[in-house]
Amino acid sequence: MEKILEVKELVTGYKGKTGFLKAVDGVSFDIEKGETVCIVGESGSGKSVTSMSIMRLVDYENGKILSGSIRFEQEELTDKSSDEMRHIRGSKISMIFQEPLTALNPVFTVGKQITEAILLHQSITKKKAMERAEELLRLVGLSDPKTRLKQFPHELSGGMRQRVMIAIALASNPELLIADEPTTALDVTIEAQILELLRTIREQRNMSIMLITHDIGVAAEMAHRIIIMYAGKIVEIGKTNDILQRPYHPYSKGLMESVPKMDGQRGVPLQSIDGTIPSLHEMPSGCRFSPRCPLATDKCRGEAPQLERKGDRQVACWHVDKLLQQEDKTQVKEG
Ligand code: ATP
Ligand code: MG
Repeated sequence: MEKILEVKELVTGYKGKTGFLKAVDGVSFDIEKGETVCIVGESGSGKSVTSMSIMRLVDYENGKILSGSIRFEQEELTDKSSDEMRHIRGSKISMIFQEPLTALNPVFTVGKQITEAILLHQSITKKKAMERAEELLRLVGLSDPKTRLKQFPHELSGGMRQRVMIAIALASNPELLIADEPTTALDVTIEAQILELLRTIREQRNMSIMLITHDIGVAAEMAHRIIIMYAGKIVEIGKTNDILQRPYHPYSKGLMESVPKMDGQRGVPLQSIDGTIPSLHEMPSGCRFSPRCPLATDKCRGEAPQLERKGDRQVACWHVDKLLQQEDKTQVKEG
């Protein structure tokens, strides 16, 4: 399979009083063409900072990519100028955010905002752009697109606004769509519709999607592969079914246990693991999950495990082999 995005050892920090605090610390993963990858993790684990780093949007808030490599379609993005990145952002990579009302400009009509996105990258007439905007609104499932084009964001419901955001994101025909919690602000029915829409568009266009969510249920429905992040690091990467059926990392296990088992129920926010995620000021030494981990030993507290390959899986835990052996033994006994 062709890799569209390759992130290697990415470190992104924010300026603190005594230097940079690393919000993302040595993150490596890739996304294939046409693949949906979900990044899952508790609030503060670095999911948004990872996506903002790819889009080079961290610079605006005292943030900086400190080291590492981000290759998109074989080209290194970290070497690109801000102008080059602005071009890539509006064309090959698009992003949709959690709250569509803040991302849309309240003083312009929907039509004006979509046509602007189109005209930024295509030299066509305004009339043609308006036709294209109408097409896009139809594509994202908005009824009566002609009327919608004349409306202002506040005249639309949350679900409609998110569809408009998706239309804007698709205006440039992106190869990669980064969606940061695109449905968290919506109710369950609308969420399901928006996710279905993203799935259909991905299939039609063979687009890649990097979907950020704290909801394992959403990841289960959408992802080919799941990346689990904790405190600025990736703790596990694997195929969706593998991770759901048998998470390897103790943190992943905790996450799975926090999901309601009843079908059709929305995943609750992740709360079942005791303790809280550390702040950037007080990162524990060694494995960052060790203060909350039931298996933690002195080795865990002293030395950080690296992400290592285990078959199809990648996992960062000193105890993974022992854990899996124990599970296998229990299964044999029970069987
Ligand atoms: P959530 O699920 O709440 O969106 P997240 O996984 O997206 O969480 P990030 O927003 O990536 O988390 O934040 C990771 C860490 O970086 C957090 O500790 C956060 O406080 C810090 N951080 C994020 N943005 C900034 C900023 N502009 N300045 C300083 N620190 C920041
Ligand atoms: Mg976030």
